[in-house]
Amino acid sequence: MNGRITEENRKQREIQYKNFVSLTGMTERQMEDLAAERFAGAWSELTASQKRGRLLSDQFLRSYGRSPEAKGEYQLVGWRSLFMPTEIMYAMGIMPLTVEMTAAQLAMMGLAVGRLETAEGNGYVQDICSFIKTGGGAVIEDILPSPDILLTSTHICDPSAKFAMYAAHKYNRPEFVLDIPYSVWSYGPDEEGKKRYEDAVSYVADQLGDMVRFISSETGAVFDEAKLIETIELANEARKWFLLGYKFLLEEPGAVQGSKDMDYAVNLMQTWGTEQIVDVYKSRYDELRAAAKKKSAAGEKPKVRWAHLRPYYANTLIDYIEEKADIIGSHVNYIYWDEMDARDPFRELARKTVLTPTYCQVGTRSSLILQAMNKGEGLIAFYPKSCRHYHSSARMEQETFKKNGIPMLILDSDCIDNRGDDFLIQKTRIDRFLKSLEQGQMRV
Ligand code: SF4
Repeated sequence: MNGRITEENRKQREIQYKNFVSLTGMTERQMEDLAAERFAGAWSELTASQKRGRLLSDQFLRSYGRSPEAKGEYQLVGWRSLFMPTEIMYAMGIMPLTVEMTAAQLAMMGLAVGRLETAEGNGYVQDICSFIKTGGGAVIEDILPSPDILLTSTHICDPSAKFAMYAAHKYNRPEFVLDIPYSVWSYGPDEEGKKRYEDAVSYVADQLGDMVRFISSETGAVFDEAKLIETIELANEARKWFLLGYKFLLEEPGAVQGSKDMDYAVNLMQTWGTEQIVDVYKSRYDELRAAAKKKSAAGEKPKVRWAHLRPYYANTLIDYIEEKADIIGSHVNYIYWDEMDARDPFRELARKTVLTPTYCQVGTRSSLILQAMNKGEGLIAFYPKSCRHYHSSARMEQETFKKNGIPMLILDSDCIDNRGDDFLIQKTRIDRFLKSLEQGQMRV
């Protein structure tokens, strides 16, 4: 281990935990009681979503050394951006902390706006991604468990590498940035395109090797290839169960609320490579099948797919949409990579990493979405106005979908920042969209 960082983290995480707890309005005792209550029941008796919640809570609290399951243990923590592969981290005993997901959690607890205001009061501009800005406020207020290392990639989301640079500077921690070739899905299917794709994979696989050496030299974490193979096999197993559920939901719309399923946000999740997530996705599949049997025979509702994430703050929008339509799938639950060959771990992880469809030219991205959709379905794009990546290209996407007979509704809003939330304006547009979709679907 790195003596300086470990010693600093031990002290800092005590303070950061206190800061976090005081933000929630609880005392440390109350927080401990709450955690003990959450961890009291047997894992096997929990629902899939409760299992996911417990796993994420355990990971978060463990990073402070406060999980009821590992109290006082020092945990190596790596702050990561959304598409940094986690399998290597688990294989090396590094706990991922995904700042964007932490921002979503803060929004669910009603604690994001305060962090946004802190960031804005300290020089963050109004119009950058609110996930990252919330992370910025959290770093300024020192409420997150400080990292041992930061691991970021240059693909989405755009501001995350800059955020990591800032956090690395503030905490004086080592940072590694993976450079990802842009838009590999746009490479042609011909020999030249295939060669460019394999070159891109080699380029990233080499960097993953460099990253492992960097992590070892900076944190002392040991790399064991057998362990990496094991985490990749677990990720494959989890992928299998998740895909079964995903396909099932397409065939059985309305079996569960699609918005709840969106909370798996599977392609962004930091749990790939853990044993528990295999069971979470298996339980989800079992629950979907059980729910489909009980489904009422109420009339069919229009079917929509969801683009980007949902609002994480308390809102009426999602319930309103789901009263009138079935959300049958979402971008964030799209599994775009094949099962990995665990015998070639770095190349396979590189493949998965470069294939992130969001990091593509708009035309390519739209055609990938079109391939996954069926005639008669609509697309609701919940694009934060602060998102340079999605919001800036929304109108271009809409044109493409229109030409291909897929109606698309763009909701200019935000997932984290509810300060400009105006449900009444959105309601009128949603009503019009769903009405036209219903009429269109009747003609199909
Ligand atoms: S809002 Fe945009 S930049 Fe922010 S997390 Fe979403 S895709 Fe990334």
